[in-house]
Amino acid sequence: MRIFSGIQPTGRKHLGNYIGAITQYVAGQDRGEAIYCVVDLHAITVAYEPADLRESVYDTAATLLAAGLDPDRCIFFRQGDVHEHTELCWLLSSVTAFGDLNRMTQFKEKSGAQRDLVSAGLFFYPVLQAADVLAYRAHEVPVGEDQRQHVELMRDVAERFNARFGETLVAPQVRVPEVGARIMDLQFPERKMSTTGGSEQGTVYVLDDPDSVAKKIRSAVTDSGTEVRRAPDKAGISNLVDILAAVRGTRPEEVERDFDGSGYGAFKQAVADAVVEYLAPVREGYESLRSDESELERLLAQGAEKARAIAADTLEGVRRVMGVGPVRERR
Ligand code: ATP
Ligand code: MG
Repeated sequence: MRIFSGIQPTGRKHLGNYIGAITQYVAGQDRGEAIYCVVDLHAITVAYEPADLRESVYDTAATLLAAGLDPDRCIFFRQGDVHEHTELCWLLSSVTAFGDLNRMTQFKEKSGAQRDLVSAGLFFYPVLQAADVLAYRAHEVPVGEDQRQHVELMRDVAERFNARFGETLVAPQVRVPEVGARIMDLQFPERKMSTTGGSEQGTVYVLDDPDSVAKKIRSAVTDSGTEVRRAPDKAGISNLVDILAAVRGTRPEEVERDFDGSGYGAFKQAVADAVVEYLAPVREGYESLRSDESELERLLAQGAEKARAIAADTLEGVRRVMGVGPVRERR
């Protein structure tokens, strides 16, 4: 069983990324052949600074390693180092429906938020994402709820490709965590916690110091009631219930039971304490990993080499069945 997922190097990673994606990446190392990449090529689809991008890749890589990715037990690399992704992106564009890309929620949301240029890259983002996963013939893609639509699109792309050119690619399954698949912004609990579109006070960063984490959680927007339970008109409390359940590894119902009658103040304090403790090991491990950039480069290069071997093999098959390039003997 092969697992693949990518994470953006934009900005700092937050609690939503951690619960929705990163913990699944770490667990994936025990479940199958796990392949993860820092998707620098996706990050250039919105306004960015070239010098910051390189730094952000190191920040994100060090965060993931501190969280428990082990380069001996997974393939961990930088997307831009493996050129097969971009080539496959173009080849797959021939079996991607324009109308499907046009329906993507992420494009609608992110294009609306751009101040000047809405890049064609932002529109094409899901095709590159499909190439990322399909290049490895991965069976499973661990992501947060917001990426479900993109995984469905890549399944369609794989199936259309296979129908058109013969069985070549694998249509992957989405894997979304049971609890915490969509962590909401603490200040605007109707929006997802986000790297690029969130509020500073409503976003708990993995590397925030304990006081900031606790303060952000204690000042989370809640309703005027008193009951700790999930409900459509209690978005703030529902979010905190989910966060605590995910951090404790229990069900939201259990959290509701535990805090029955306890009031919002005590509940928020308990969530704050639990999240601080949950993130502490990552924060502590981060500094030493981040300070050694040549070691990070070495690890990423080593990962890219392993990744390239798999992706190049897929590309060769794709080019052959598509009639691109000279006739080659089947390997
Ligand atoms: P942006 O908002 O700029 O897209 P992001 O916060 O979504 O950034 P990504 O790198 O795009 O960060 O996402 C990495 C992974 O984290 C993806 O699998 C995504 O589904 C997951 N994820 C992102 N936000 C949340 C969230 N609020 N709750 C749970 N999972 C999330
Ligand atoms: Mg995202």
